[in-house]
Amino acid sequence: MTSFRAGYLEIEPRELVRYLLRNAGQFDREYINPQELLEFLKLDYTSFHFATELPEEARCTLAGASPRALLSFADRLIATDDSLSVKRERFSVLHEIGHYVLPHHEHALYVCDDIGLSFGTRLMLEKEANDFAADLLFLGDRFSAEANSRQISTSTVKELATRYQSSFEATARRLVEKNFRPCMLIVFKQKNRQHNIDVDATPSWDVRYCAASPIFKTRFFEKLRGEVPPEAVAAVTQSGKGIEDSYVCEISVSDSATDKQTIFQAEFFFNTYNIFCLLTPKT
Ligand SMILES: [Zn+2]
Repeated sequence: MTSFRAGYLEIEPRELVRYLLRNAGQFDREYINPQELLEFLKLDYTSFHFATELPEEARCTLAGASPRALLSFADRLIATDDSLSVKRERFSVLHEIGHYVLPHHEHALYVCDDIGLSFGTRLMLEKEANDFAADLLFLGDRFSAEANSRQISTSTVKELATRYQSSFEATARRLVEKNFRPCMLIVFKQKNRQHNIDVDATPSWDVRYCAASPIFKTRFFEKLRGEVPPEAVAAVTQSGKGIEDSYVCEISVSDSATDKQTIFQAEFFFNTYNIFCLLTPKT
């Protein structure tokens, strides 16, 4: 006998985001209020000192990093560590809401750490919860429309980060990922810790991760290796400089297979933790 398998209609995360934003009254707002989402979902929220008050068995996460937020499905409770900055706290709550509503996410206790909540996580469920949190934070498609009608620049990152009450990193990443034009965000981390001891040594900054618009990936590349030019490091990391004090230059990227060189415009900026670069083709 031939056997068939039944399939069931599955709600896409995108539809879930729209449903939540609409029904929790967020489309009428300038930027998201996670508290209204919690109330709509009938979830409680608390914040406490994880290092001393989290039970021992919950303190050891999969990746072994510091726990930052948790969701107890049975208690309908979300909690965050009280040391988080305001923006991280909001993002972490949205991340836990993602675990709560996304299909296939276990109805259990989630303890999420710094690694899971970072953009570079390789854990699938953490990545899904991060994507869901970013969709909520940037009010679904609204950000995309605004990002595409503005210049790809640090002043746009600053303007939209202020508007959505989001971090510069999350905003810059969203700006390139939702862009119809070719652009890439490169995030650099400081490598040479020797600089802390030898104050005259120049710290070097190498690539932590890259994010790019779909058309950039098909036309150019998905990631690259390299360091921030010393003159850019010197310009953006001077004390008293803000994100708006960016450094613009041209950089050449060579294809490792063909050795072909392509010139891009690079705009570097600094958020006191990482150096960022917005890369666009030279016009
Ligand atoms: Zn998580």
